[in-house]
Amino acid sequence: MVKQFINFYDAKVSAFNHSLHYGGSAFEGIRSYDGKIFKLKDHLLRLFHSSNILGIKIPYSIDELYDVTYRLLQMNDLKDSYIRPFVFKTSENLRINLGNNFNTNLLIGLWEMNKYFAANSSTAINIAISNMIKPSNSSYIPYSTKISGLYSINQIIKNNIDEYYDDALIMDDRGYATELTTSNIFIVKNNTLLTPIVDCFLNGITRQTVIKIANENQIQIKECRLTIDDIMSADEMFATGTAVEIMPISSINRTKIFTKSEMTQIIIDLYEKEIKNYHTEILVNKDIEKKIK
Ligand code: PMP
Repeated sequence: MVKQFINFYDAKVSAFNHSLHYGGSAFEGIRSYDGKIFKLKDHLLRLFHSSNILGIKIPYSIDELYDVTYRLLQMNDLKDSYIRPFVFKTSENLRINLGNNFNTNLLIGLWEMNKYFAANSSTAINIAISNMIKPSNSSYIPYSTKISGLYSINQIIKNNIDEYYDDALIMDDRGYATELTTSNIFIVKNNTLLTPIVDCFLNGITRQTVIKIANENQIQIKECRLTIDDIMSADEMFATGTAVEIMPISSINRTKIFTKSEMTQIIIDLYEKEIKNYHTEILVNKDIEKKIK
């Protein structure tokens, strides 16, 4: 196994790369704040989980990847960054099923990052409701992963919304809200946080962190089914994700306008505090940890 630190722009693959053609790769999106990487082990566990589902065995331990990620951050002298580990296959042919006839590659790239929706709406985003739906009977869809192929659908959804919108809410085939294209959602109703039950979409690390923070601060929180009516009658709404952090939502489909963001602001402040006080790795991803053992 060759381990190398190379220039970002020298990280190249063949145009006939198997993972490039079929989406059989896995990735993570991680942030560092002031030189500390937030929830690194949780993200690495999810990377191992996604890779396992693809039949890729990562030839390093979590501790090795943990150390090398910190080394990269320090070598690049970055404080606030976005870190992108990426696992993919290289092979001699392009048959869909390669069996064990492929090599495993793992890249970790990183770059400076501040706010995600910086340009026009750093304080709140406008979302559409996508007319594409997610299948809820997802026993065969590895929704708990960040496998690249799953993101082709999210790209199509985002490509199909009007430029006015920052993102789109995806409903499932039962009529329940799931997530946006790269973040989870919460609504606030009568001072209670409500978030969809995760059964056909990603249980984001930020989502799990918000639930933990709410519980620790005696904020009522419920995981439940949410219909369009529930969302349209909410007092506040926000998105959560590593890149978007806690992002207030200001409108849906141009019709529903959220005018309040009091509870959202409390969660933003508590999330910032969580990041500042974050020293040790307390896993929120216990389910995934069990799965990869
Ligand atoms: N849903 C999707 C589809 C995502 O890509 C992300 C970003 N990883 C999230 C939710 C939020 O996950 P996390 O909080 O772990 O970043």
